Amino acid sequence: MAKLPVHVDKLIEEFGPHKAYAPKSGLHGSNEPDKLVKTHCCYCGLQCGIQLKVKDNKIAGFEPWEDFPYNEGRLCPKGVMRYMQNNHPDRIMSPLQRVEGKGFVPTNWENAMSKTVSEIKRIQDTYGKDAFAMLSGVSLTNEKSYMIGKFARVALKTANLDYNGRLCMVSAGGGNKKAFGLDRSSNSWADLKHAEVILIAGANVSETFPTLTHYIWQARDNGAKLIVVDPRVIPLARTADLHLPVRPGGDSALFGAILKIMVDNDWLDHDFIDNHTSGFQETIDAVKEYDLDWAEEHTGISKELIYQAAEMWGKANTSFLLHARGIEHHTKGVDNVISCINIVLASGRIGRPYCGYGTITGQGNGQGGREHGHKCDQLPGNRDITNPEHRKYISEVWGIDEKDMPGKGLSAYEQIEAIHRGEIKGMISICFNPLISLPNNSFVREALEKLEFYVCIDTFLSETARYSDILLAGSLHEEEEGTVTTAEGRVVKINEAITPPGKARRDGEIIMELADRLGAGDKFSFPTSEDIFNELRVASKGGTADYYGITYKKIEDNYGVFWPCKTLDHPGTPRLWEDLKFETPDGKAHFNPAKYRPASEMPNKEYPVVLTTGRVVSQYLSGSSTRRIGKLVDQYPEPLLEIHPKLAFQYGIEDRDLIKVKTRRGEAEFPAHVVETIREDTVFIPYHWGGKYSANQLTIDSLDPISKIPEFKVCACQLEKTGKKGSQERTETAYQSGL
Ligand code: SF4
Repeated sequence: MAKLPVHVDKLIEEFGPHKAYAPKSGLHGSNEPDKLVKTHCCYCGLQCGIQLKVKDNKIAGFEPWEDFPYNEGRLCPKGVMRYMQNNHPDRIMSPLQRVEGKGFVPTNWENAMSKTVSEIKRIQDTYGKDAFAMLSGVSLTNEKSYMIGKFARVALKTANLDYNGRLCMVSAGGGNKKAFGLDRSSNSWADLKHAEVILIAGANVSETFPTLTHYIWQARDNGAKLIVVDPRVIPLARTADLHLPVRPGGDSALFGAILKIMVDNDWLDHDFIDNHTSGFQETIDAVKEYDLDWAEEHTGISKELIYQAAEMWGKANTSFLLHARGIEHHTKGVDNVISCINIVLASGRIGRPYCGYGTITGQGNGQGGREHGHKCDQLPGNRDITNPEHRKYISEVWGIDEKDMPGKGLSAYEQIEAIHRGEIKGMISICFNPLISLPNNSFVREALEKLEFYVCIDTFLSETARYSDILLAGSLHEEEEGTVTTAEGRVVKINEAITPPGKARRDGEIIMELADRLGAGDKFSFPTSEDIFNELRVASKGGTADYYGITYKKIEDNYGVFWPCKTLDHPGTPRLWEDLKFETPDGKAHFNPAKYRPASEMPNKEYPVVLTTGRVVSQYLSGSSTRRIGKLVDQYPEPLLEIHPKLAFQYGIEDRDLIKVKTRRGEAEFPAHVVETIREDTVFIPYHWGGKYSANQLTIDSLDPISKIPEFKVCACQLEKTGKKGSQERTETAYQSGL
């Protein structure tokens, strides 16, 4: 019965979100902590080093960790405030049970666990193993990601496991595997500083990966030229040499056109193309009709700008291309990625100093979380669950019969569709808030309400957890030891600073006990996180994401280790492919044709405006943590609709007018933020809020055919001025995501 047990206002009153502030003098013990613990920020994939102050088993503040080489102590607003998530009044301190008409009431672990396991067994006995699904998150450590992949296949025995990296990195992963046979940024960020040209596509670096901005500025100080591709004049674009304001959905047309210009002008590295790549001819055949007129029409960028960008990129001696969700959240996300990689390969600028290509992972462990087997089609070491040899190897590591290993399951949104159809009846989730982060979320809510049983492992009662039957009180980042892998491929250590408060438990212990109660306890005997990591190392051995040579000690001695690291005496690999041997079957990098195709929903007379979505600097993903931190909420309290003055004029819209935005999925009202920093045909809404403030009520649930990522970045909408202004009450309560 996955329905709200009481009115949402009552749940908000009891469980928040409430805003927490530190007293002016600092939290208790901030001036005389018991210890400083070196660890990493819990939010984005850059994983900045930070030292947490601990007093009386509570986080009391932080100090910069200036020795950590990536960020040298720098932090963004989220990192500075991350300590406030600990010790928060909304924190779930014991297991909770849904009671109709009452809400969520504390229960004991025995009851919560036995109810969970009996419901799993009932559903699987009645409807089959795959009728119970699992959704996981990529803010979890490598150890938890690995253990969850094993738990779903060995203990739950379900094929239907997927993760919220499905909303994040899967298009990049799909493109990387096609081109290189390996899914990781090619260089450490250190190479950025000396690149002659940096091209950034669909990545609002200053707001969503803020500390990386420092590397771009250093490169600028060294004379680098900067090209920014984005429908908005994002902060970095304001100082770029070229800003290409691409129409959402036009990315592969742009990169295809740039490739054609490179070919026409012979700005190519023939030696590299001839000797170290395949597929060049088919790829340039696919773009032979992309002349400048065609490109201007399909990208919304002037032909002069496109040519200048191609020339700047084509003639460079060293270069770095970075991209993120702006080009990946599309039904052609993989095509967009390979169209970027094609211009890197045509230039031959990869596998050498200051020449590279990087996908900036969004979530805390967006890189490691996509390697260790909690994707629906994946086994550890980035192995393929449909490959007989890969299945055999992992079955041996796990001590199971290969025929008992489930096959490929449904991706995250496909799971929601299967719940809606009545095929999946029960679900366990951890660290995933699909009611905010999935598109077309009215459909997601309907699906959740159809579940016969939903159990959630979480630290706060998220918008999705409000629909759970049982909530298992889990752990925060600082409450469990482990490792994560940063966006540059560096495996770093998360150190346990404190133990979980009250009756909350470490996530790993919860998973292990569930496995034991499901009869697989002998496969989940890990006294420490390091024991899990040591099994992960063996499981990854021989895979493309090979961690075998990485140990906790080696990580701590070296400020992290870059994978692949195949042997204990190997130092790790900050820069990939210096030998120009790629991980593809023929050892070459592969060009891949990326023929332009339109977005799944283009604007028309009825829905004339393009809606695109994204993030703001003070919030992180679904906001489950950051919408509880007062200073972060106050920095950007409610989602605003960014609209260009010319488009606003057409509708008679003035700043802070409430605008009804309607798509084929639903409608919602947002105050207008009239700005010149957005295309005239496009509006932008950030997506961190829920309820009536949710941008994902409007977005479309069309998926990329390969990566299954939803098309968050393009849909068609209508705008209507309601005649009302945004109110103070609305602004002050948006963070709660109520009705
Ligand atoms: S959110 Fe990202 S950039 Fe900001 S401090 Fe954390 S890891 Fe660093």
